[in-house]
Amino acid sequence: MRIDIITLFPEMFDGPFGHSIVKRAIDRGIVEIHLHNLRNWSTDKHKRVDDAPFGGKGGMLLKAQPIADCIDELKSQRQYDEVFYTSPDGILLDQAGINQYSDYKNLIILCGHYKGIDERIREHYITKEFSIGDYVLSGGELAAMVLVDGITRIIPGAINDEMSALSDSFQDGLVAPPAYTRPKIFKGWEVPPILLSGDEKKIDEWKLEQSIHRTKIRRPNLS
Ligand code: SAH
Repeated sequence: MRIDIITLFPEMFDGPFGHSIVKRAIDRGIVEIHLHNLRNWSTDKHKRVDDAPFGGKGGMLLKAQPIADCIDELKSQRQYDEVFYTSPDGILLDQAGINQYSDYKNLIILCGHYKGIDERIREHYITKEFSIGDYVLSGGELAAMVLVDGITRIIPGAINDEMSALSDSFQDGLVAPPAYTRPKIFKGWEVPPILLSGDEKKIDEWKLEQSIHRTKIRRPNLS
């Protein structure tokens, strides 16, 4: 999969994409991430990318021209499945969405900043807008990182034990059951004996029961 990210702050991605599963997926050629600095696309002689909104009282908006030119050039090189814009009023990102997007071949993610972007870009270039929650961030970069991380970890080959991604919360409409590792007793607190029984069928049943119970209590909207 190829992901093109349009941002004013490409350096912000160094940390999250330089470690752990995303880094491994990049190293293995499972995902290809291209960062585009919006400033490079500005035809303004001072390389300005923002301007004051018409009728606005304050704050700045990202101008249409650099964004449009950048997306036009990318689209002239290949076909994109989706041109995403990160936006607090977009559809809330969830596991079902991430599963769907992980099948795509080429994606563009546009990160907003300041007060957002010129509406005409949203109308004419953006095919899907997503939010990572009902709160306002300073920019779309963190939201783009969340989407890329979520997508990457479920692409086959990114995680060594693929089953492990599939057994995470939300994949089956349930949250994950409690999990324990060595030692069997820590500070006098014991691991549920069933997990030490070696009876796989019983263990699976217990995990399912726990997941159902937890989902009811913690995420009643899922059940
Ligand atoms: N004026 C806008 C907020 C702008 S915040 C409004 O009131 O809706 C600046 C940028 O950060 C946005 O353009 C968007 O790209 C990004 N952003 C902020 N909160 C976000 C969220 N919850 N999810 C995804 N992107 C977000």
